[in-house]
Amino acid sequence: MQIKTKGIILKELANGDEDKLLTILTEDRGVIYAYAKGAKRFKNQLAASTSLFCYSSMVLFFNRDKYSLDHADGIAFFLGIRQSMEKLALASYFAEVTAVVGPKENDGGHFLKLLLNSLSFLQDDRISLRLCKSVFELRALSMAGFMPDLVACAGCGRFEGEQMAFYPDEGLLYCKNCWGKHPGTPVLLTRGALAAMRHIIYAPMEKLFSFTIGPESIRCLNDATERFLQSQTERSYQSLEFFHSVLSLL
Ligand SMILES: [Zn+2]
Repeated sequence: MQIKTKGIILKELANGDEDKLLTILTEDRGVIYAYAKGAKRFKNQLAASTSLFCYSSMVLFFNRDKYSLDHADGIAFFLGIRQSMEKLALASYFAEVTAVVGPKENDGGHFLKLLLNSLSFLQDDRISLRLCKSVFELRALSMAGFMPDLVACAGCGRFEGEQMAFYPDEGLLYCKNCWGKHPGTPVLLTRGALAAMRHIIYAPMEKLFSFTIGPESIRCLNDATERFLQSQTERSYQSLEFFHSVLSLL
């Protein structure tokens, strides 16, 4: 069966001397694994369009539970991301997270839009690196079914306390009166960080990246979304460790 869709390359692995095994986030089938015959050969028409972060119109062939990529016409290559080590590291983390939590054998259109927007804002410096990271982490998790409950304190129902604490393991908020009685290690949120988290999970996609918060709030937000992602997906990410090691060198 032939499938025409659009997709972005999340990972490319050599399969023998000439072929590649790709992980692709597609519009119609979500995250899939596909063989690309001859894609390692320099002159092959698939060589450029099967490189990491390349977004293309694709023709796939599906047979016996396996996909092969027959044709791809590049739409966006995100070459600007490769010109900065920290952008490349963060984009690689987005790709790794997408391969883990992205929709499988299912409509991938919304997730694809999130990833493409995140890469484009990152490439063009339209948002700070750290803010872009938190927006992607929290929105990706929410779309994958791990939406935290940020409406009110889970203990007493208070909507806005002086300070709220976020529990990454549970995805719940507690106010100052309640968090002392609750076990676990929360992230204490500034008002700005809490407002940003609510914006990230509820805002329409076209307004997702349109907000600013102060440096202290960004630190809180980063801590909250990174811990939330690791806790909910119960794993660590090699590309995240790499991202932190690149940042520590700056
Ligand atoms: Zn409370």
